[in-house]
Amino acid sequence: MDTNRALTDKIALVTGAGRGIGRGIAERLARDGALVGVHYGKSEAAALEVVAEIRENGGRAFPVGAELGVPGDADAVFAAFDAGVREQTQGAAGAAAPLDILVNNAGVSGSGSLGQTDPEVFDRMIAVNAKAPLFLVQGALPRMRDGGRVINISSLASRHSFPESVAYAMSKGALDTLTLCLAKELGGRGITVNTVGPGFVETDMNARRRATPEARAALAAASVFDRIGKPSDVADVVAFLASDDSRWLTGQYLEVSGGSGL
Ligand code: NAP
Repeated sequence: MDTNRALTDKIALVTGAGRGIGRGIAERLARDGALVGVHYGKSEAAALEVVAEIRENGGRAFPVGAELGVPGDADAVFAAFDAGVREQTQGAAGAAAPLDILVNNAGVSGSGSLGQTDPEVFDRMIAVNAKAPLFLVQGALPRMRDGGRVINISSLASRHSFPESVAYAMSKGALDTLTLCLAKELGGRGITVNTVGPGFVETDMNARRRATPEARAALAAASVFDRIGKPSDVADVVAFLASDDSRWLTGQYLEVSGGSGL
C-alpha cells in the first residue's frame, strides 16, 4: 500500500466503480486513505471484487448498488451509501452519512451518428450521463462537508467534434455545463467542482473500437504518446482534484487525453 494518505478521514462515492475508469479511481482514492463507496449498476460481482481487493490492500470500501437513469436513482444510491457508511463506521454516522468526494463517473456511450440516433437512445444518454449526475449532486450536497469535491467524468467528445456519437457528446456537454454552474454556487462552502475529460482509455466502453491491431493502432495514434490511456492515467488526475492540493482550482475542464488533438 502506498504511503500517500492525502485523503485520510475523507469519504468518497465513485459511480460506476465496478470496472473501467471508475474502478481505477476507486482503487486510487482508497490507496490515498479515503473510505470509498464503490457504486455499480449491473456489475455487482465486479464491484464486490473491487471492494475485496481494496480491503486486501489495507484500504476501506463498501459496495453501493443502484441502477442510474431510472426514476428514484439518486435516492436509491444514497440509501445504499448511507447504509454502507453506517456499517463501516459502526453506526457513528447519522441517518444521512457524511460525504467529501463525489465522482460522477458512470456513463453510457455508443449512441451512433445523427442518422442512427433515435429518441430512446437520446433519452438514455441524457438520463445516465447528465440527469443522474445532477440529481446525485443534489442528493450529495446536504451530506457533503465544507471543502468537499465534485468531479465529473466527461469526455473529449464534448470539446472535439465527435459526430459518430452525437447524443453521447451532447450529454457530456450538458455535464460540463453542470460543472460550471455548480462551481459558482458551491464556492462559498469551499467545495470545488471540476470536469475531467478523458481521451481513449482501454476499457469495455471502446473494446469494439480496438478489436483489430489496425484499429487499436489508430486509437493509440490519437495521443502524442502513441498509446491508449489506462484507467490509472485518469485516476491519478482525479486523485489530485480530490486532494487539498487542488483547492484553488474550480469550474475547470481538464482534458486527460495524452495530448490527443494537439
Ligand atoms: P465502462 O468500462 O463501459 O464502464 C461504465 C461504467 O458505468 C460501469 O461501471 C457501469 O456500471 C456504469 N454504468 C453505466 N450505465 C449505468 C447505469 N445505467 N446505472 C449504473 N451504472 C452504470 O466505461 P469507462 O470507459 O470506464 O467509462 C467511465 C466514464 O468515462 C464514462 O462516463 C465514460 O463516458 C467516460 N469516458 C470513457 C472513455 C474511454 O475511452 N473509455 C473516454 C472518455 C470518457 P455497471 O457495469 O455496474 O452497470
